[in-house]
Amino acid sequence: MSAPPSREGAVDLARRERGLQAHSPHRDTRKNVEINIGKTCNNKCVFCLDGMPTREDKAFMPFDDMKAELERWRAEGHLSVGFLGGEPTTYPFIVESVAYARELGYTRIALATNAMMLRREHFLDKLIDAGLNRVTVSMHGHTAPLEDRLTMVPGGFEKKVTALRHLVARRDRGLMTEGVSVNIVLNGWNYRALPKMMKFFFQTMDLHDLRVNFVRPEGYAEGNPDLVPTFTDTIPVLVKAILLNEYHFRRVFTFGGLPLCVLPAKLLGSETLLRKYAGDLYRDLSTDCSVRAEQHVPVEVMEGVSRVEGGRARFNWQDRKRFDLKHHIEACQRCDAADVCEGVWRGYRDIYGDREVAPLTWESGAAKRLSPRVEQAPEPAQVARSSHRRRLVVLS
Ligand code: SF4
Repeated sequence: MSAPPSREGAVDLARRERGLQAHSPHRDTRKNVEINIGKTCNNKCVFCLDGMPTREDKAFMPFDDMKAELERWRAEGHLSVGFLGGEPTTYPFIVESVAYARELGYTRIALATNAMMLRREHFLDKLIDAGLNRVTVSMHGHTAPLEDRLTMVPGGFEKKVTALRHLVARRDRGLMTEGVSVNIVLNGWNYRALPKMMKFFFQTMDLHDLRVNFVRPEGYAEGNPDLVPTFTDTIPVLVKAILLNEYHFRRVFTFGGLPLCVLPAKLLGSETLLRKYAGDLYRDLSTDCSVRAEQHVPVEVMEGVSRVEGGRARFNWQDRKRFDLKHHIEACQRCDAADVCEGVWRGYRDIYGDREVAPLTWESGAAKRLSPRVEQAPEPAQVARSSHRRRLVVLS
């Protein structure tokens, strides 16, 4: 939010402007692409977006298609690539894909992984030798009971801890030059433990970079208030986490998935703090995605913001969130931050409605809510589960 937009200059949401990202000096300017290798996974997370993938969904991307995809995005100027799934370490061609990405000149080569397979040092070192230089580990608990309950894999916690130790050791030897981070999906079962998770990942595991993303209420979490906490209940815990980081841990700690107007007043009033902590708005790379399309169409068709062609759906992730997966309500039309804020996950509105959302205005360089916060968290509505699934990627 470098310059407050004037009313006349405020974003016309109806025009559905593309590629909107707030200007930020904290953002890596390399263009990123995330390639989904298929939806086979060795975890069964209770909040999984993919629900129950079909056999076709689980099929691995042929290596020739992977090579073509890597060439395509590199030709468009992308220097950063992430492999994700499903679980990318289950992909039979993952080492070859990483090597080919390096051969093409990608300089940031990442895996978004649950890391269980990376406990095998030989496999990890093969990936690093091939060119892997960044890993984002999906991990959602600081204890075995919490992690294993959320991912439904007994023993998974111990395997991930072993993998994290291997990764941190290699980072310290200068091998993971683009970093090692942990990505927590903040949900109804773990959000209260966030300060303890920070202590575990920053102190016990010596991570430098921790990201929390508010759960996206789709797939198994759709219509499930047990897994989806309210913003009102979540924010005080997030405030505590930010204070802990400011005064104690002093590491990279960011969050994503929350609309700006539900953030605490102190954060809204400080551009410096917002840019530091609102990772999805100010830090994430501009990211394109390539994922298997449900239909194989010979000519390009648009589905929302996705271009579907020849068996793949391709879209910009920031656009996908803003225009397809989140919602700007009527109040957002009067909000000075609508150019920066992506809105509210549609699935969240289905459960809790809009009562916590209010437009922001600018006063003396700070954002302020135009109406007070709700005092009581909203009660969940009974939500009918949709019959269709929005099969899309989980980003790092
Ligand atoms: S009113 Fe809408 S656009 Fe403004 S901060 Fe809230 S959710 Fe975002």
